Amino acid sequence: MRLNDYCSPEEWSKIQAFAQDKETPFLVVDLEIIRQKYQELITCFPIAKVHYAMKANPGAEVVNVLRDLGSSFDCASIFELDRVLDAGVAPERISYGNTIKKAAHIKYAFERGIRLYATDSKADLQNIAENAPGSKIFVRILVEGGETAEWPLSRKFGCHPDMAIDLLVQAKLLGLVPYGISFHVGSQQKDIAVWDAALSKVKYMFDWMKLEEDIKLQMINMGGGFPANYISEVNPIQIYAEEIMRYLHDDYGDDLPEIILEPGRSLVGESGVLVSEVVLISRKSRTDLNRWVYLDVGLFQGLIETLGESIKYPIYTPKMDSNPENGTVVLAGPTCDSTDIMYENSNYQLPQNLAVGDKIYWMTTGAYTNSYSSVEFNGFPPLKTYYLE
Ligand SMILES: *Cc1c(COP(=O)(O)O)cnc(C)c1O
Repeated sequence: MRLNDYCSPEEWSKIQAFAQDKETPFLVVDLEIIRQKYQELITCFPIAKVHYAMKANPGAEVVNVLRDLGSSFDCASIFELDRVLDAGVAPERISYGNTIKKAAHIKYAFERGIRLYATDSKADLQNIAENAPGSKIFVRILVEGGETAEWPLSRKFGCHPDMAIDLLVQAKLLGLVPYGISFHVGSQQKDIAVWDAALSKVKYMFDWMKLEEDIKLQMINMGGGFPANYISEVNPIQIYAEEIMRYLHDDYGDDLPEIILEPGRSLVGESGVLVSEVVLISRKSRTDLNRWVYLDVGLFQGLIETLGESIKYPIYTPKMDSNPENGTVVLAGPTCDSTDIMYENSNYQLPQNLAVGDKIYWMTTGAYTNSYSSVEFNGFPPLKTYYLE
């Protein structure tokens, strides 16, 4: 890999200088990149409201940066909610986007001022009506996209559009505000056309609701799914925005509904570099062609999205610069669990002269790493995270 494809020289010296004398493993997050990504996104989608999906990195530092930039937030639990409210974000800037929630948690969110809720089932809608009376509801629909997303979010969430219509009608009867429709096309979605397919379903529902129920829906929540820069090539966000805006104008002309985006990965992914070290290099037999490279970081310290070799992070070690001979490696973590193997079939290459103690840098690891890190599997502590201004 070419380091410059993932990190500018200035950025790299900043991270190097910081990382030098720290014990690995740890994640360094550069908040400046998050600022740039946010600005870029709102420049691409000037009509949209950004609700940061904070599970990607719930760090208070990240929340504060996005708060100051005027971002809104999507929370999936009352714990995320507390984090955002404690940071001083007004409840009007927060949605409760998880369709799976306890009645008691809905009540708590309502008491703390939250008035915008996602749902995709009758039981949850009933709970919202009882515990968050008068609130705005958006219904999440099932959409395609699982095959072209590197980390699919389909199946578990969303309902068929016909059922979504029933729920919106029901919402009104229960004294709630049937406000809009949401979908998520899958995380790290490489096929922009899936937004088109999803938006046609939404358009059909907007029309049906107006015509048959005399209910004017007001909002489309297009979820996340925008990509970060990993090994496989993706279109830039500008292309996503151009295409998606074209779909929207085709459907609604200039009378666009309110648009919400819920980016996680694309906002924070590129802000992080995970620094690790080689613990051991071995072969499994005298004639084994592949080296096994064991690191001090693995699936339980933040690299869980390598499960099934789904997310392919770019990795870098300084020995790559001198153009050494490379060889295929299996990359594995330090724990006593045999699932703790990051890459076995993805043909990762590292220099033949790689040695124990060498540093391995995992690029684009700002999203879904520290939040997923386990508490103390085999006694290993959760992934340490440092934030650079
Ligand atoms: C995880 C999640 C997101 C963020 O998705 P990314 O692909 O990381 O941008 C947005 N909305 C909802 C409801 C989510 O669950």
